[in-house]
Amino acid sequence: MNIETVGVVGAGTMGNGIAHVFAQNGYHVRLVDVSQDILDRALQTIRKNLERQAKKAIIQESEIDTILSRIQTATDVDVMRDAQLVVEAVVENVDVKRELFQKLDAITAPEAILASNTSSISITEIAAATQRPQQVVGMHFFNPVPVMKLVEVIRGLATSDETFDRIMELSRKLGKEPVAVNDYPGFVSNRVLMPMINEAIYCVMEGVATPEAVDTVMKLGMNHPMGPLTLADFIGLDVCLHILEVLHRELGDDKYRPCPLLRKMVAAGHLGRKSGKGFYEY
Ligand code: NAD
Repeated sequence: MNIETVGVVGAGTMGNGIAHVFAQNGYHVRLVDVSQDILDRALQTIRKNLERQAKKAIIQESEIDTILSRIQTATDVDVMRDAQLVVEAVVENVDVKRELFQKLDAITAPEAILASNTSSISITEIAAATQRPQQVVGMHFFNPVPVMKLVEVIRGLATSDETFDRIMELSRKLGKEPVAVNDYPGFVSNRVLMPMINEAIYCVMEGVATPEAVDTVMKLGMNHPMGPLTLADFIGLDVCLHILEVLHRELGDDKYRPCPLLRKMVAAGHLGRKSGKGFYEY
């Protein structure tokens, strides 16, 4: 079965980027979200990002309309019937994802592959909601999707070699650099990144240094393009807290316990860039 039509469920930050990248690479895309308003906004974002790529000569201006014409939007997942692959990018909630996978399992062709872009939920657990766990896989893209090269390809306990190999190959066709990862909390990216961000927050809480100083040390001393606190503000402090809670709970090791200052900032609504204030003001 050739993959020609790809369903993307969820048209938020990640979903619109994923739809963009598939359409740009010639795939027919079915993009689904809960309201047409959200879908229209997603299409506007994709157009804006394509225009930016055209200015940088990554694509031709004349390609923009053709790429957009490959994306069909809908508010009902029924349009996924003819998709050979569906990538899920809805809210990070295990019940919502399991219910959605059950529905996708019932409507898509038996040989279709179902992928999740989850950052922290177990692929094995999502797969168990379906009758085809061997065809369920993690396809973890990074924000902004059209720019970031990495895809973590996550093998659940039951993921078959065939499914895994096809998604690795497909990721390369999208111009990405796939990395094979087994299904453990936080995969590799968040398992390594979040404790670093958490420790940077402890440094601020304990008065070791200011946020600016912590970020400068990591930028100039470790050659990170962005300091950990700037990055935390960009990701969203609520998202960081959520992922640390998953690592702490699932791995049961106190080295992952979220810093009290992070909890306090989230409680205050200081969520980073998206709320206008985090470790920095925006
Ligand atoms: P988002 O809130 O921007 O978008 C989620 C979208 O899903 C919303 O538009 C919402 O309306 C829609 N949605 C919710 N339930 C739905 C349903 N049942 N059917 C259809 N649509 C539904 O979130 P996001 O940042 O794009 O994250 C999506 C997923 O990607 C999450 O699992 C997240 O953990 C993961 N992720 C996020 C990032 C990131 O940097 N934001 C990076 C990697 C992975």
